[in-house]
Amino acid sequence: MSQIDYSRAAGYFLLTDYLKGFMLGMRYFFKPKVTLNYPHEKGPLSPRFRGEHALRRYPNGEERCIACKLCEAICPAQAITIDAEPREDGSRRTTRYDIDMTKCIYCGFCQEACPVDAIVEGPNFEFSTETREELYYDKAKLLENGERWEAEIARNLEMDAPYR
Ligand code: SF4
Ligand code: SF4
Repeated sequence: MSQIDYSRAAGYFLLTDYLKGFMLGMRYFFKPKVTLNYPHEKGPLSPRFRGEHALRRYPNGEERCIACKLCEAICPAQAITIDAEPREDGSRRTTRYDIDMTKCIYCGFCQEACPVDAIVEGPNFEFSTETREELYYDKAKLLENGERWEAEIARNLEMDAPYR
């Protein structure tokens, strides 16, 4: 004949498991939350975060890119296509700068190769699209990204500069 486990029976009767769970829930209820209410709240990003690409300009509005094509050459995914020709003043600038974002693997090599910090991977990670075509970026789109994110990009480059 089996013996009755009185302590277990008392536990069932006094709902101790339920109370323990309730106390645990209450303890975390009043602690600071570790979850974020995305997209209204966002977590911190490293200055080295490699997000959406952007082409930058100098403060006087001139394009930084000098069409050296180092980024195109180094890109392991062959996602970058550049055409260039000299301007009337002899300077060399791109006439076409495309990035196929569906090919890009966000390695950051293009940014590393660029001698004038023209092509960069900015902090924007919210650029999902409904069609593939929207991810074929042209020069106008990249320059627009640069204008939109210049303040954050410049700050990130400055913060990372001592480690480069
Ligand atoms: S991040 Fe890498 S894969 Fe993407 S465009 Fe730059 S070099 Fe190419
Ligand atoms: S973005 Fe930089 S690396 Fe690429 S062509 Fe322009 S100057 Fe050269």
